[in-house]
Amino acid sequence: MADVSGRHFLQIPGPTNVPDRVLRAIDNATIDHRGPEFQKLGQKVLSGLKHIFKTKAPVVIYPASGTGAWEAALVNTLSPGDRVLMVETGHFATLWHSMAKKLGLVPEFIGGDWRHGVDPAAVETMLAADKSHSIKAVCVVHNETSTGVTSRIGEVRKAIDRAQHPALYVVDTISSLASIDYRHDEWGVDVTVAGSQKGLMLPPGLSFNAVSDKALAMSKTAQLPKSYWSWNEMLGPNKNGFFPYTPATNLLYGLRESLNMLLEEGLENVFKRHDRHAEATRRAVRAWGLEILCLNPAEYSSSLTAVLMPAGHNEADFRKVVLENFNMSLGSGLGKVAGKVFRIGHLGDFNDLMLAGTLAGVEMGLELTSVPHRKGGVAAALDHLVSARAPAGGFSISR
Ligand SMILES: *Cc1c(COP(=O)(O)O)cnc(C)c1O
Repeated sequence: MADVSGRHFLQIPGPTNVPDRVLRAIDNATIDHRGPEFQKLGQKVLSGLKHIFKTKAPVVIYPASGTGAWEAALVNTLSPGDRVLMVETGHFATLWHSMAKKLGLVPEFIGGDWRHGVDPAAVETMLAADKSHSIKAVCVVHNETSTGVTSRIGEVRKAIDRAQHPALYVVDTISSLASIDYRHDEWGVDVTVAGSQKGLMLPPGLSFNAVSDKALAMSKTAQLPKSYWSWNEMLGPNKNGFFPYTPATNLLYGLRESLNMLLEEGLENVFKRHDRHAEATRRAVRAWGLEILCLNPAEYSSSLTAVLMPAGHNEADFRKVVLENFNMSLGSGLGKVAGKVFRIGHLGDFNDLMLAGTLAGVEMGLELTSVPHRKGGVAAALDHLVSARAPAGGFSISR
């Protein structure tokens, strides 16, 4: 019999733990989506999102999972037979690549070892060789959720510019937005794809496209079929806070609350919190004597950490023991790393003691499943959490 008392630890890298404040906000009466009360809600979330994407551009909201927003980004901007440049950072990049093929695009895939992010120099070489500018878009995943590797989006922008190539720049931030620093305008991104159930701390069901002027201009002539996903249909009613079809009103209540929470904490503080938890997690992994999948420290993810299982040990068996004994869900190995890697999610609504509990569950699970490791991972993480908080000279406690 599984041990299920107490709170479940949902430590997969999305969906993430939904804060009570957000759940309470969702639990409100569904209203007329063409009435004045809805209009205020619509205007509030549509403008608040710009802050999170760091953009002045419009952000389209779909009642869909992130996969829908991937499709929207492609069908609004591209035409059948268009070449697009994609990079095999891991499982999600691979899924997006197969979607592009199914839609009738011709994606070029720069191969990868699933342990590194996008190499800006490789993008530059491909684009520089495309003298006729037949590549219409560069599509990359900011935080590859299957590997715990973050790509350097600003540097890829510079590579596109060095190649003097006009391709549209499309970025998936589904597991980075509101957990890892991201700048749609400053990094010259044309379409940013995001979802509700990861850094934004909402249940699954909403996804987003931030749309630059250049992307909007391309959408006027793009020939891939679209109707439900059409930005054009959305942007008209959005100007007044409304939607062309029934929006996910209750999730929008939740979004309004999560935007409030992010602004109250301050986005830069949110990023620092995730950096701190990611660093503490990596210290635990190293203390256990296990290996972090990401090989380049400049590309470590602050959303999640993917950990390699020692040879001869399967992550699925390990995660099953952790779930049954400690009521905690850890992320599975996906695609090429299935069986070999487990993932610790530390994105979204998360604090020091939740991380301590998470790492304790991992450490006890390693012990229970006789996975070769050293003790002391949790202690190493706690040391980091303490040192990251202690003021110089320590706290003084009087009386
Ligand atoms: C979760 C995720 C997706 C898929 O989103 P769904 O909401 O499951 O459709 C795509 N890309 C990345 C990077 C993700 O983390």
